[in-house]
Amino acid sequence: MSWEAVIGVETHVELRTASKMFCGCPVDFSSEPNTNVCPVCLGLPGALPVPNERAIEMTVSVGLALGCRIAADSEFSRKNYFYADLPKNYQISQFDRPLCVGGSLEVEVGDATVAVGITRVHLEEDTGKSTHLGGSGRIHAAEAALIDFNRSGVPLMEVVTEPDMRSPEQARAYAAELRAIVLALGVSDARLEEGSLRFDANVSVRPPGASELGVKVEVKNMNSLRSLQRALAYEIDRQTALAEAGERIAQETRHWDEAAGVTKPGRSKEQSSDYRYFPEPDLVPLHVDDEYRERIAAALPELPGPRRDRYRSMGLDAEAARLLAAGDGLGGVFEDAVAAGADPAAAANWLTGEVVAHLRRTEQEPDGIELDGAALAELLAMVAAGELSATAAKTVLAGVLDGEGRPRVVAAARDLMQIDDAGALQAAVIDAFGAHPDELARLRGGDQKLIGFFVGRVMLATGGRADPRKVSDLIRTKAAE
Ligand code: ADP
Ligand code: ZN
Ligand code: MG
Repeated sequence: MSWEAVIGVETHVELRTASKMFCGCPVDFSSEPNTNVCPVCLGLPGALPVPNERAIEMTVSVGLALGCRIAADSEFSRKNYFYADLPKNYQISQFDRPLCVGGSLEVEVGDATVAVGITRVHLEEDTGKSTHLGGSGRIHAAEAALIDFNRSGVPLMEVVTEPDMRSPEQARAYAAELRAIVLALGVSDARLEEGSLRFDANVSVRPPGASELGVKVEVKNMNSLRSLQRALAYEIDRQTALAEAGERIAQETRHWDEAAGVTKPGRSKEQSSDYRYFPEPDLVPLHVDDEYRERIAAALPELPGPRRDRYRSMGLDAEAARLLAAGDGLGGVFEDAVAAGADPAAAANWLTGEVVAHLRRTEQEPDGIELDGAALAELLAMVAAGELSATAAKTVLAGVLDGEGRPRVVAAARDLMQIDDAGALQAAVIDAFGAHPDELARLRGGDQKLIGFFVGRVMLATGGRADPRKVSDLIRTKAAE
């Protein structure tokens, strides 16, 4: 029997506000530990929270982008639990009255489209950050813990889906699409490796055709889209093996171990009643009126889906459109290059090919790269005009990406411009003929293979800076004289 996997994803998004959720401390992860703190985010007695309006706006914008209903009245609650990095002993979160409910996100997986229901989008605050010293880096076997409260109180948005996904690929595609939306809206830098975007995947298996859901396991600690997919694939295999052996699947939280490629049991899962939620008495309920919501709706930027469609209509293939619409910054370069006169397909080719490969090699992030649209257009124009060979253009591009300057400047500095001077090329051809009289005689006798031989000689003599097409034409003409 083949079992069906059922997946629901909970996503935490750290919002890129200037200040924290309930106090004026700056959100800045480059600061020394425990320097962006105050009585509110340290949980000192008597300190009172004040909500961050920008975080509310950002959450409403995400809710609208996901087709959610924006609740006119929502509320913050206290979620009570003790942990060393939670100084108040409770987290202010939204519980039974969240800001956004009931949306849907269409996700493309291969040729199919899956509609993933969005249960809710709510606001909460992040905890401090614990670092466990010694042992594996986890709390077990650690010798000491360091706690940095700079993250305590940073606005955190949570997006919860319905259990609508059926495969690890679908979950990954959902996660990628949500990330693209968050980037398009500019509400977070959405970096998985740095934890500003965190996915918890809930997964269960059931016999095919069953209408009831199986017992779910929550998997945490995946810090890339790839590990989200791998963790789910592993977990589905593990649960399927248990189910086939007739064994019980325990409801629990498990951690993904990236190096070992397995999930490992963590703590047993709390029930929501364990948290003793109650309305936060220090905050008034949140009211969002129609005018406020409409104003945010009117300011929504182009979302990744429509942007992909627009790129497709410019002649890009599906994969290039997906990559450039993902909001990583390459889309902006693409648009500017096209505006500066570049051919869309050529610009997309260079960006998704050479540029992505170079960024990967040099471990650079796509946002803030040294290549702007005008520079890309300049490079493409040089290639089209025969001033740069394709190989030389790659070298020039690498130079531009490494901050050496504009394409023309890099090409000149590295002496990569093609020799366009007809006199110089003719001289190189005549030199090659002079050095190889036997081959010239055979060429004149009709052996066309020798054109390639002479092109090779000329390219060698010019350090690869001649246009091979022009050289071969010249060889034909000169040999016939
Ligand atoms: P909890 O109370 O454990 O947080 P929720 O009902 O709030 O559980 O659901 C959390 C996430 O788990 C949601 O994304 C939901 O779609 C998903 N989920 C719930 N039940 C299952 C299940 N049986 N299998 C897979 N995912 C599930
Ligand atoms: Zn503070
Ligand atoms: Mg829940």
